[in-house]
Amino acid sequence: MFDALTQKFNSVFKSLSGKGKITEANVKEAMREVRKALLEADVNYKVAKQFCKDVQEAAMGQEVVKSLHPGQVMVKIVNDELTKLMGPVDTQVYFVSPGPTIIMLAGLQGCGKTTTAAKLAKYLISKGKKPMMIADDLQRPAAIDQLVTLGEQIDVEVYTEDTKDAVRVAKNGIKRCKQGGYDVAILDTAGRLHIDEEMMGEVSDVAKAVTPHQIYLVCDAMIGQDAVTSAKEFNDRLELDGVILTKLDGDARGGAALSVKAVTGKPIKFIGVGEKLDKIEEFHPDRMASRILG
Ligand code: GDP
Repeated sequence: MFDALTQKFNSVFKSLSGKGKITEANVKEAMREVRKALLEADVNYKVAKQFCKDVQEAAMGQEVVKSLHPGQVMVKIVNDELTKLMGPVDTQVYFVSPGPTIIMLAGLQGCGKTTTAAKLAKYLISKGKKPMMIADDLQRPAAIDQLVTLGEQIDVEVYTEDTKDAVRVAKNGIKRCKQGGYDVAILDTAGRLHIDEEMMGEVSDVAKAVTPHQIYLVCDAMIGQDAVTSAKEFNDRLELDGVILTKLDGDARGGAALSVKAVTGKPIKFIGVGEKLDKIEEFHPDRMASRILG
């Protein structure tokens, strides 16, 4: 997945293993290489710096220099620190009783919000839930039709209304959700190409009007640090409960996956790993760390 990073980590570990006995200076040198690799992967600068400091401290604490297999010990330490950086695991979707549980999706245009709404609905059906979706992205012309088509594919009702009033659609959609006996309402909201006041105003108004039980930010992993910056800005304005990181299948670098939790404090709940509706996975930091280390 993040091939360049995997290769760099492996070459650092290899050079440590090859030394037989290693010194504190070798560890420091290795950390410089790791930091460079993380920055090349578009990891946030502060996150990369802190990560290397943590690994170095752990390496000294575990006396890597006295170990017979310093390379192996380092792999374990880096694995643990990567897991910590992206964790703890929090894939729980919290449901209210009585329902419906309202889940709002926010994010920039093109990040994969509409697709993710349908993926999430399909995932929730597999967990025994009865979701419906509300087409509240009234900005992008094709968004409503797209959600309706996706709804047909997975046999999920989609609430639509011909208006530009996003608050009205959200409220009426939730009314319909209650009438229809659905237990989850997934709300697809409008994005823009960049964060602007109008978009933030609209999503805040919708959030205030329907007080979602959970708000997830959908972020495109392929835009790296820009995804992290947008997550931070959304998080300052909305009470985010978590992040859904999309397009990881096309992300060769890994910067967003590695930085977003550390920067926003909000967990990655799910990852999107393809365009098809079953290409959503719960996010497990330990598994991601193992994938990165190859
Ligand atoms: P929205 O503007 O945020 O609603 O974005 P869309 O849901 O329309 O998605 C934009 C594009 O990204 C579409 O072509 C989707 O098929 C694609 N997409 C969404 N999620 C993923 C993913 O996890 N992987 C890949 N490869 N493509 C995705």
